[in-house]
Amino acid sequence: MQSHSRLIACIVMLASILACSLPAGAVTPAPRPITLVTVGPDATSTPTPFQPAAAVDLPLPTVTLVPTEIPTDLPTLTFTPPPPTATEPAMPEQPTASPPPSGDRTQYIFYAEFDYANRTLGADETIRYFNSTGQPLTEIILAVPPNLWDGAFFLNSLSQDGNPLSNYSVTGERMSIILPQTLEPGAATTFSLSFSLSIPPKRYEGTFGYLGYQVNLTDWYPFIVPYDGSWVLHNQWSFGEHLVYDSADFEVNLKVSDPTVIIAASAPAEVNGEWTRYRIYGARTFAFTASDRYLVSESAVGAVLIRTYYFSGFEGAGDGLLRAAVSAVGLFDAKFGPYPYDSLSVVQTDVPDGQEFDGLVFLGTKFYAEYGGSAKSNLISIGVHEMSHQWWFGLVGSDQAMEPWLDEALATYSENTFYYYTNPRLVDWWWGFRVNYFGPSGWVDSSIYDHGTFRSYVNAIYLNGANFLYDLNTRMGDDDFYSFLRDYVSRYSRRRATTYDFVTTLRQDARVDVSDLIQAYFQGSY
Ligand SMILES: [Zn+2]
Repeated sequence: MQSHSRLIACIVMLASILACSLPAGAVTPAPRPITLVTVGPDATSTPTPFQPAAAVDLPLPTVTLVPTEIPTDLPTLTFTPPPPTATEPAMPEQPTASPPPSGDRTQYIFYAEFDYANRTLGADETIRYFNSTGQPLTEIILAVPPNLWDGAFFLNSLSQDGNPLSNYSVTGERMSIILPQTLEPGAATTFSLSFSLSIPPKRYEGTFGYLGYQVNLTDWYPFIVPYDGSWVLHNQWSFGEHLVYDSADFEVNLKVSDPTVIIAASAPAEVNGEWTRYRIYGARTFAFTASDRYLVSESAVGAVLIRTYYFSGFEGAGDGLLRAAVSAVGLFDAKFGPYPYDSLSVVQTDVPDGQEFDGLVFLGTKFYAEYGGSAKSNLISIGVHEMSHQWWFGLVGSDQAMEPWLDEALATYSENTFYYYTNPRLVDWWWGFRVNYFGPSGWVDSSIYDHGTFRSYVNAIYLNGANFLYDLNTRMGDDDFYSFLRDYVSRYSRRRATTYDFVTTLRQDARVDVSDLIQAYFQGSY
């Protein structure tokens, strides 16, 4: 085992400290460079599209790291997990920073046995579903993402309130359950599923699957998709994300075959004998990843546990990301709203860029490899982007397929927010490197299906979206702009927002006319 754990902690009132270094009041952001670089048709880039780190290598902003009193021993729980076949697992109350389970939210409870060496997982899944649609339901639709891989997903049994169900189908990613009895509005029901996974090799573009040194379990279980007059389950597209999630409560009890395997998950671990329990409430997903080679660095922002998981040879990048995560979580906590979960794990894997899940984000190994200790790097800019998705994806949900700008433009602009407040001399670099080089254009409110190429999609959603938010920020001034974002977050926390919701909140909060900006960047009328 090459595991080492460095316990570092920080005293962070970072955002306020950093904010104090800037002029008070409604100052406008640093100017966006106006020189556009023409990109030729043969210009290449990484998918999101990131460029090689430039030669100038500035140090990361300094945060104060001091020894901590964070307990390293996890609490001993008083409950005994029922056998995996149980349908009503106990959920004893434990203190947690996350909100308690909500009666309206769907609850997912798993007892899963994970065999790292053989790359298999067997799970009993209990879904407590409350019909908050306002409509009588005769059918329930679940997404089954692992069934997109041949031979990966096996459904062993399915029942509702203890009665076996037979009238169901699983086709591709879509599971349809025809209910024996109509589920009336306001009624609740419980589904019990037993399934197995034969975890497939990981594709480079995605996170789910195994590598020789790592297994990633992301979008690995059936879940009930949102209902907006009809069930929301979009088709895959060749780029972008298509799954839409309601906010839900997760309890995952995990038993791992090899105790030396290190698990990084969406929530902190609570060890209970041979089981380890993870809980995250008001989240979109529960993801975890395993490796027998992870190195771990650890810190905290207030009560939020922050860890980076990386591999030997990338210690500098792992620590750099930890410092960036401490800065970003502290800053975004102040600028957007409280961090929504108990922990954040930042994990190295072999992907083209990064990928967000609740409480856990992945970043590509090539960013670790090119990192030279500077915030002027893909590792830090894309790392911060993925971290900001804890607000723009996890806390405030949206339809990633039809209105992808609601999380991606905000996440991209959050990179600017990070540099503006932590390292303002890098703001010009960031705009040139991340945005202007590619000549952003296109409707910000377009869907993933409106774009025939990844370049067109990114230029409209991520980059022109960042331009829109910059212009909005400039028009409103910092105080009003971030006050509006906090209001937007507050209104739509643990819900799903639409472009209409964003614009409606904006019109109510803005003390200046923003109509021309809406018209300039959006094709729809809001
Ligand atoms: Zn993103």
